[in-house]
Amino acid sequence: QVAQALKSIARNQQVKSYIQQSSELYPLLLKAAKRFVTGENKQDGIEIANELISKGYLISLEYIGENTADLGECIKAKDEFLNLIEEMGSMSMKQTVSFDLSHIGLSIDPDTAYNHLLELAKKADQYGITLMISMEESSKTNKILDIYKKTTEQYPNVGITLQVHLYRSSGDIQELIHYPGKIRIVKGAYQESVEVALSRSKELNNRYLNLLEQLIEANHPVSIATHDEILIQEMEQRQFLKHPNVEIEMLYGIRPDLLKDLKSKEYKCKVYLTYGQEWYLYLCHRIAEYPENLYRAVTDMIDP
Ligand code: FAD
Repeated sequence: QVAQALKSIARNQQVKSYIQQSSELYPLLLKAAKRFVTGENKQDGIEIANELISKGYLISLEYIGENTADLGECIKAKDEFLNLIEEMGSMSMKQTVSFDLSHIGLSIDPDTAYNHLLELAKKADQYGITLMISMEESSKTNKILDIYKKTTEQYPNVGITLQVHLYRSSGDIQELIHYPGKIRIVKGAYQESVEVALSRSKELNNRYLNLLEQLIEANHPVSIATHDEILIQEMEQRQFLKHPNVEIEMLYGIRPDLLKDLKSKEYKCKVYLTYGQEWYLYLCHRIAEYPENLYRAVTDMIDP
């Protein structure tokens, strides 16, 4: 509930304007956000991406945004992604771009999101760049999966995220396994009702391992997106991480120590980077899913 409240506060238009106009609060919060966000502009993301690539990491880059209900804003977001792909392509950065479909039109109607996605997929395909669609609240799952399926048949460089906590995912995976796109497996970040989702538990971790095993056995490209050390140890024991089609992906600033350690064992390790003016929303998401981050944020703010 606290997590949901925090997300609602972050999405509130008045809070947003207040933060943006406050010459004292804005720089302080931005300082705290920089633990998790590369910065406000594309160049910030590209610069850190290049640094990480030179150290042997793969990267995934997102321009932050979600639930955009204004068509003009969706077009702007889509154009920003096109420019990002163009710039990555011009540097031969054959990496990944990630986004929410609700950032590029799903909140208006599915066709808008689909048409924008096709534009992005075509451009990304020209440069050998992969697109990963994030998964949002369960009320949107059907629409997101429909758009994904139509697109990946034409552009296999488009992948999808699957939330293990949703009960429906064990059925969805049976179908998704027949589509070419990469599947990123996550536990699930959204608060869902007990009728549709499992909460964090041993049972959830077992479901994670089970779904992952199915993908590995089918030789399907997969991204393991978790920071759960115990779960990762179990995957190592089962030799899942050595598989050529498997990579492990973590959010920037969450467990760099753990990811570095995994990279030293020569597993494919990817860092999920974000940039954009909506960084405070992203900061609130990270605090909501792990409240200890609030202490880190406060420490970052007062640290000279
Ligand atoms: P948890 O059980 O939540 O946490 C395990 C341990 O990891 C914690 O005890 C802690 O030590 C550490 N940890 C976890 N989160 C944090 C944090 N914020 N700060 C500090 N430490 C932390 N979710 C979606 O619903 N849709 C998506 O499209 C989506 N895309 C994602 C893409 C990537 C690359 C990643 C890594 C996650 C994504 N998520 C997405 C979020 C995901 O669903 C989880 O909410 C998130 O990864 C936390 O779960 P966990 O697997 O790390 O394990």
